[in-house]
Amino acid sequence: MSQALPQAPGRGCVVCKKPFGEGALRLRYEGRLYDFDSERCKRIFQENPDRWLDAGGGVLDQPR
Ligand SMILES: [Zn+2]
Repeated sequence: MSQALPQAPGRGCVVCKKPFGEGALRLRYEGRLYDFDSERCKRIFQENPDRWLDAGGGVLDQPR
């Protein structure tokens, strides 16, 4: 049994929006947790987090 991630329905990777099954990567950024389906997406996010987030730390539907 792998641990289930508490993921809201319809939410996927912050960067590519793909839903993920097991093995999501989790990153803590400014006190919040963000999930990614791959190392690649995680790196893209880390290069420019503001691109993917609104002022409150929510994930944008469309990157800036
Ligand atoms: Zn992704």
